[in-house]
Amino acid sequence: MNMVDIINHKRLGYELTREEISFAFTAYLEGEIPDYQMSSLLMAICLKGMSDEETFFLTDLFLNSGERFDLSSISSVKVDKHSTGGVGDKTTLVLGPVVASCGVRVPKMSGRGLGHTGGTIDKLESIPGFRTSLTKDEFFHQVEQIGFAVTSQTGNLVPMDKKIYALRDVTGTVSSIPLIASSIMSKKLAGGADKILIDIKVGRGALLQTEEEGEELSRIMIEIGKRYRREVRTVLTDMNVPLGNSIGNSLEVLEAMRVLKNEEKGSFYDLCVLLASHMVSMGKEIAFDDAKEEVLAVLENGEAYRKFMQFVEMQGGNLTKLPLSTKSFDILSKKSGTITAIDALKIGTISMHLGAGRESVEDAIDPRVGIVLRKSVSDSVLVGDVLCTVYLGEKELMEDLESCFVIS
Ligand code: URA
Repeated sequence: MNMVDIINHKRLGYELTREEISFAFTAYLEGEIPDYQMSSLLMAICLKGMSDEETFFLTDLFLNSGERFDLSSISSVKVDKHSTGGVGDKTTLVLGPVVASCGVRVPKMSGRGLGHTGGTIDKLESIPGFRTSLTKDEFFHQVEQIGFAVTSQTGNLVPMDKKIYALRDVTGTVSSIPLIASSIMSKKLAGGADKILIDIKVGRGALLQTEEEGEELSRIMIEIGKRYRREVRTVLTDMNVPLGNSIGNSLEVLEAMRVLKNEEKGSFYDLCVLLASHMVSMGKEIAFDDAKEEVLAVLENGEAYRKFMQFVEMQGGNLTKLPLSTKSFDILSKKSGTITAIDALKIGTISMHLGAGRESVEDAIDPRVGIVLRKSVSDSVLVGDVLCTVYLGEKELMEDLESCFVIS
């Protein structure tokens, strides 16, 4: 078998066999296939797609390339959640405490952000002292004790995906549905939860731009789940505008806390209630509406907020020292009218340039910086109204933030 034949098969639109997929990806992981040949195969997959069978083989290969977590020693049903990535997406910080307060266990392995999308681990690391590398024992013990823990992905969880994802990132091959499905599902299956909720983001700030693509990703992920006897639910949610009003690590922790204290309503709160209700409904095997009542109750009676504080304390974080830049200023509107769009991709990219995200994996994050939106889509604005507030660190604002707001 040779790599050029496999690339040509896919280029011509043929279905690859299990042996061909296994040969190409295993040899690549072992360093026997150069980046340029794997890039070529990935691009052929992007252009020609993969059948369900090919996607199952690839997922299986990824899954078996490294360690698999056995969570069976943690009592009761464990529910995991994944988002395909967006701007201002801090839902895990809210969902974990809410769902755990309703009695469902959430053992969460999270990643770091790359490009215009943020990562849960970066957000939590903005809290001084917060430990994101828990040992297995600490992780299991905390989930058993308070129902929720977050740890960063270990180096040996799906190493094949890690190597392929890094190559996809720099070869324009990220937004392939079968590649996204096998990448995410292999990590979720290796994570060991019994049930998995996937928040598929669709829109300008997301990997997928159309609802049709989102539906297709949803279908194949659910099919993969069936093969492994794991319940997978998906929801398609909007990522044309940033999620919530804060983008930037400390700022997002503060926003999540306001939602947990039941102080802030709006689209981010609504999304948290939707996702948490699905997780509780899956974990307790109850109707969505009954789960939603439980979710609203723990937000209203303060239990979810207390759970968050307990979680931060157990992982060593000190919220009184959350760093926030004192160098802030407002961006004012030069036009009057109604806001018809806020460009999530552009805002995410500007925020990354300020230091809230990383352009390449080695970049350091500045937890103090970011952007707080002061207006939402459909709001009316007058000349001179504040559109958003910028928190600066070492880097200057080089882009035109006002142009992210479409006013007509
Ligand atoms: N997130 C992942 O982990 N993998 C992808 O392919 C896309 C988003």
